[in-house]
Amino acid sequence: MLKYDSFYFQCPHCQAWLEGRNLKAELVNEAILYSDGKVLNDNLITTPQKMILCPSCGHSFWVEHPEEPFITYEKPDAEIYSWNTWRFFGINFSDNKGKMALVNHYKTFLKKSHYDPKKEIYLRRFLWWAYNDLHRNHQHIRLKYFLNGFMSYGVWRCNRRMLLEGEKLFIRNYKDFTENLRRLLVLLEKHPEEQIDLELPEIYRELRQFDKAKELLEKVGSRTHFTNEMLRHSKWKDARVFMVTG
Ligand SMILES: [Zn+2]
Repeated sequence: MLKYDSFYFQCPHCQAWLEGRNLKAELVNEAILYSDGKVLNDNLITTPQKMILCPSCGHSFWVEHPEEPFITYEKPDAEIYSWNTWRFFGINFSDNKGKMALVNHYKTFLKKSHYDPKKEIYLRRFLWWAYNDLHRNHQHIRLKYFLNGFMSYGVWRCNRRMLLEGEKLFIRNYKDFTENLRRLLVLLEKHPEEQIDLELPEIYRELRQFDKAKELLEKVGSRTHFTNEMLRHSKWKDARVFMVTG
């Protein structure tokens, strides 16, 4: 059974048709939540992609409120660029080159134009997640992940090499990473309505301001697994993104 509903929309510049997809919530088997707020369902990110780069003409445009006639659920009688051709700008995520390409796309969008705070928050959040993708699941480098039988030796070794290389790239770009987070923090403090649950303490933790992260977490009324885990990582002075549930 298809896990998606397809919809169709047109590039405002060249009128090429693109296929979009909405995840059917009831068919999701497995959701993974990370400390930075990124959620994966069946290995796919659930947050809709609002910045589109047209695969036909290279024009970038914003899809904020998908509405007809711009968007239709009826398949148009025309050539259509499938979802895979434009989703995340057609990037292949199976290596670090693809992950860095995603980082660079967001950096280019941010440089290219001035955005209202809501859009800038969206782009900076995605840039933050893209940097974190370089060393997301870092715990998988441990031998225990091979010994537990989660992956074959070949897959584990290959994955381990990619994560270690990703960590190096992350460190090399650390200055940009922190600049982006600081700017995101300022924007989110000014626009609290745009904040995702526990986003502020997480940003402080990833900026290595552990005392501030702990201070904010201790103010949270009802303790959950998420707040407890974040407190634990802040006490360890661990600033890396981690998996909360999955
Ligand atoms: Zn176009």
